[in-house]
Amino acid sequence: MLHVKELDVYYGGIHALRGISFDIEEGKIVTLIGGNGAGKTTTLRTISGLVTPKEGTIKFKNQNLLKIPSEKIVGQGVVQVPEGRRIFVELNVEENLMMGAYLRRDKQVIDEDLEYVYKIFPRLKERRRQMGGTLSGGEQQMLAIGRAIMSKPRLLMLDEPSMGLAPIIVEEIFECIKYLNDNGLTVLLVEQNANIALQLADVGYVIETGEIAFSGEAKSLLKDDRVRKAYLGEE
Ligand code: ATP
Repeated sequence: MLHVKELDVYYGGIHALRGISFDIEEGKIVTLIGGNGAGKTTTLRTISGLVTPKEGTIKFKNQNLLKIPSEKIVGQGVVQVPEGRRIFVELNVEENLMMGAYLRRDKQVIDEDLEYVYKIFPRLKERRRQMGGTLSGGEQQMLAIGRAIMSKPRLLMLDEPSMGLAPIIVEEIFECIKYLNDNGLTVLLVEQNANIALQLADVGYVIETGEIAFSGEAKSLLKDDRVRKAYLGEE
């Protein structure tokens, strides 16, 4: 579904991505794990068209994403939930969700999708008139995911959804990601929390200083010594 090949990204003199390649098969959850500053966010921002690579190709369903302007990429079904959620603090929950649908005209399907989001996140339904800025961190993450769902993604890209959240809330959110995937959504999950990400994902890529160091089936990476030592804090 998504084929990223030999991506090279520079920020001025900083060589942030060095020949990154990976593939995502339709219906799978693929995780990109790595430490601070490894290049995870840059990878997502490049796919979303917010950063222009110096070299490389990004193909989504046989289209060259690098030829599509960033504001049209969401319309192709490639939707990013940014790090730090970026919800609208002065809009209520439902208004935030509807912002995700602003490119769409299919009113009836939008209403169905809103009900789908409320089914996945009943807490958002209870708080539909509450201001975004007054939600807890976990609820804000749910809202950011819900807003992305309202854009009708075919590929959902999540940037560190676990960040700053209590383990029990992280578990709840990851269960929702699993539910979305079980219902056919393809997911690219960027995480520093390698343990939970690899437990959820089908395939994992480990990114270190702008390069894919190694990759494999997520369950086997959980047992891999390199991952256990560097990312799971084991001896
Ligand atoms: P984190 O988990 O800490 O967000 P990350 O893996 O997402 O890390 P990136 O944010 O992609 O890493 O950063 C990769 C490298 O590019 C880092 O060295 C970072 O300092 C640099 N970088 C990121 N954004 C910019 C920018 N706008 N200008 C200059 N350098 C940047």
